[in-house]
Amino acid sequence: MIDFHAHTDMSYCAESGLTPEIYANLVSTNPKIDAIYITDHGMAVYFPAEIAWKWEYISDSSIFDSQRDWGNSRLAPHLAKLAKMRVNKVFPGFEVEMMHDGRLTIDDSFRKEIDILIGSVHYLPSDPLENKRDVLDRWSRHTRQLMNSGIDVLGHPFRWISNQLPVSKDIVHQIVMEAKNTGIALELNGHFVVSTDVDMLQVCAELGVPVSIGTDSHKLSEIGDFSYHFATIESAGLSLADIKLFSPQGTLCPRHK
Ligand SMILES: [Zn+2]
Ligand SMILES: [Zn+2]
Repeated sequence: MIDFHAHTDMSYCAESGLTPEIYANLVSTNPKIDAIYITDHGMAVYFPAEIAWKWEYISDSSIFDSQRDWGNSRLAPHLAKLAKMRVNKVFPGFEVEMMHDGRLTIDDSFRKEIDILIGSVHYLPSDPLENKRDVLDRWSRHTRQLMNSGIDVLGHPFRWISNQLPVSKDIVHQIVMEAKNTGIALELNGHFVVSTDVDMLQVCAELGVPVSIGTDSHKLSEIGDFSYHFATIESAGLSLADIKLFSPQGTLCPRHK
């Protein structure tokens, strides 16, 4: 198994002591784990915690611009360290959000150093007067734009919207079709239970859309745990062999986009 989504304690929401070395040790000691991609949050690299958790940068990207140099000075040594760990089958990735102007929370100059770029929706500005239909439309527009922004994987595709309203199979089908058209993978993410994952897996298998398996580990107790993934695949009436697993070109050497 390859874990394409794992955090270290560089991410504010992750447990202290969760280091790249911990993951390297897991790969070397657990024969079932072939490789791990470290995908820390752009928001944690580019913003101090008190700015990050306000989420204002999502609707005001000038905050990102003013933090860019500070974030770059943190991201450069982080990625340099991970680059040296490829020999340990620990690879550099990153998890970003898309801001209101379509830019991602990463300086573009670093994209070539990252083997897998995960784009996720963690927060969208809310309007208390908005009805459910408008929330769905706004999320759908944002997600489709994110899928076309140069990411490799859409992280936990239906987590945010599933917390707002029930997600129909028709909506799942539309997003999986968009993934097929854009050539990106959809993620089966083990950090939270999302009932839509079963529908997503079935449509991905039907349409041959790649699925990226990620634990999204934030705690030492979560690393290398694929139990949610196997249970969800079984619930979908599928086996691992029925699914087209995501495979980035950069597994053994850096990819140059
Ligand atoms: Zn995420
Ligand atoms: Zn994550």
